[in-house]
Amino acid sequence: MTETFDALTRLVGAGDVVVLSGAGLSTESGIPDYRGPSGAARRHTPMTYQAFTRDPVARRRYWARSHLGWRMIARAAPNAGHRAVARLQRAGLLGGIITQNVDGLHTAAGATGVIELHGRLDEVTCLDCGNLTSREELDRRLTEANPGFDAHVAHVNPDGDVDLPDEAVARFRTVDCGICGTGLLKPDVVFFGETVPPARVAQCFAVVERARTVLVLGSSLTVMSGRRFVIRAAKLGIPVAIVNQGPTRGDGHAALTLDAPLGAVLTSLADRVAAGAAAAGVQPAGV
Ligand SMILES: [Zn+2]
Repeated sequence: MTETFDALTRLVGAGDVVVLSGAGLSTESGIPDYRGPSGAARRHTPMTYQAFTRDPVARRRYWARSHLGWRMIARAAPNAGHRAVARLQRAGLLGGIITQNVDGLHTAAGATGVIELHGRLDEVTCLDCGNLTSREELDRRLTEANPGFDAHVAHVNPDGDVDLPDEAVARFRTVDCGICGTGLLKPDVVFFGETVPPARVAQCFAVVERARTVLVLGSSLTVMSGRRFVIRAAKLGIPVAIVNQGPTRGDGHAALTLDAPLGAVLTSLADRVAAGAAAAGVQPAGV
């Protein structure tokens, strides 16, 4: 553990690190990682893009549950792990931050230029006119359209997802785009069965290819969406370091793996290397 941590500090201390973060980084903010050790089993099958766009009943169920559940996500605050990543960036040690998380917590912790691979939950897009609006604005409109709806919640899960009786879902009224008037609204996140916009993927590959080290934080790398960047780095001979609780599907590509709570490890890491970077006069990258 100590030897592995020392090796990690050497890699990160050398700079040009690209962070790839996943749900495990946000568990200490109260947002469970379904696949990690603390995650409860997924209670609902995830919404697919196909069901959301083609099935009005599935869409209404999604918005009804999400209307009640998203406020918990919105209240989540960045944790020590997010703050440590922001410190590493301020110390000039990072070449980029790519996150699979849709919670916006890297940016809330002070990080800049974060590439949000799967989008953001606090923005809403219109599938017809393409306009982006804020989730807060949609929340206000859904509350107006559904007075007293909160009373129907049967059970709130730790991640803010909720169980709702079918009759409550049936009464829920969704709203359409407030700009074009008729378009379907969808949270600006990448659903299962949907592809990440190609330009965003290309941007991630470009960032990874310039890295001296790729640092995976709190991702089991289960989905190819994130794992492909680790595979690309390994092919190019760029060392991959993985800090995660539990094994990952990228372990075979990793130069080192550290199985430990992220907030504590990343705080120690930032304490160690950010001070060293300041003493050595490392300039922040990209400014
Ligand atoms: Zn629209």
